[in-house]
Amino acid sequence: MKLTSLLHKLYCWLPAYSLLSHTDEQQFRRQLIAEHRAQSLRYIVLALAVLMAFIVSNQVAGAPWHNAADVLRGACIALITLTMLCTRTLSDAHWLRAWFACCGLLMALLVGVFVATAERWGYLNEGGPIVAMLIFGSITVLHLGQKLLLWAILVLGLVLMAKLGSPISGWTFFYMVLCWVLMAYVQYQIDVLQRQHYIAEQAERIKAETDKLTGTLNRHAFEARLTQLIDDLKPQQALTVGMLDIDYFKRYNDHYGHLQGDQALIAVARCLKQLPLDLLVRFGGEEFIVVKVHNGPIPRELTQLHEQIAALQWPHAQSPFQHLSASVGLASYVCKERGEPLPANLLGGADSALYAAKEQGRNRTIARDIAASTAATA
Ligand code: GH3
Ligand code: MG
Ligand code: MG
Repeated sequence: MKLTSLLHKLYCWLPAYSLLSHTDEQQFRRQLIAEHRAQSLRYIVLALAVLMAFIVSNQVAGAPWHNAADVLRGACIALITLTMLCTRTLSDAHWLRAWFACCGLLMALLVGVFVATAERWGYLNEGGPIVAMLIFGSITVLHLGQKLLLWAILVLGLVLMAKLGSPISGWTFFYMVLCWVLMAYVQYQIDVLQRQHYIAEQAERIKAETDKLTGTLNRHAFEARLTQLIDDLKPQQALTVGMLDIDYFKRYNDHYGHLQGDQALIAVARCLKQLPLDLLVRFGGEEFIVVKVHNGPIPRELTQLHEQIAALQWPHAQSPFQHLSASVGLASYVCKERGEPLPANLLGGADSALYAAKEQGRNRTIARDIAASTAATA
């Protein structure tokens, strides 16, 4: 088997590449780093302390301060401290990349430490490389693929040194490979468990945010999603909120029964889902909220939203239109500067436009402009 196809098989087998879709994996890692950044830093401080302890004990035992192993340990300490200082303000994704690169360099430096120690004592104590593996293995935010790479640097470095004549015994490799296999197995389990937990958590979140009958978002999810859309608005972009209320729906239920009423709601939701909207929420019983971000005037699919419902030609014998219809109130505003708060009367504006549509005979859409000066201050 070719090396590339073997590597590809390994890559597909890693939980970080096989359990979640690419976008979900990115989202999961962002969450993991945000939650474990502080914890990982504690392990890094522990690594610093271990390296320091080796230097101090060597000096106490009378080793010359300029011996190669301690100089390399000092270089490790400097590299870790520098990375800690430089990455403090980095975003989570950049922070992880910086630390991964730093870990790679540290592994290479540690190979040097072990070889220098071996040169001095005439053999390489198995403990050193294993301690290094354990410390790197404890960094929670790195997945198995990343750790295999780091450990490979350590093993390859030592193989190279052995070839160059350093006194490294076969036992060192034996214990290291044993340790490597055990840690890889544990890390594999951790990667799988973490992702399974994430999948279960996501399923719970989706369930909590979804309206059971229509499959649209529910009111619970609405505020956070709207805030997110407003936060992402660019200057001069407009945001339109529409409130849609099915006309004479009580009469529909009274005439056809509630089960048939449910089917009508599902049909309306299905029709709305086909529109290019940024947000669709079942706000209440027979009321939906739609949100769209756009440039320029309000798009036709919103100004003519009631026509989409009428076009279903869903029979409603108790309505003057003889089919299911909806009244819609729209309120729009244009973003002046990025990150400005939600205009206080945006939803109120859509609601009063909806009342106007009801008063003017139903089965229509009425739009309101919300002036920027009405933006909420809190
Ligand atoms: P208007 O034209 O003024 O909007 O009148 P309406 O009858 O549509 O409004 P009203 O607020 O009087 O009645 C809304 C009805 O929606 C009453 C309620 O039974 C029905 N409804 C609310 N939620 C559901 C649901 O989940 N399933 C069914 N079948 N009906 C629902
Ligand atoms: Mg209503
Ligand atoms: Mg109604």
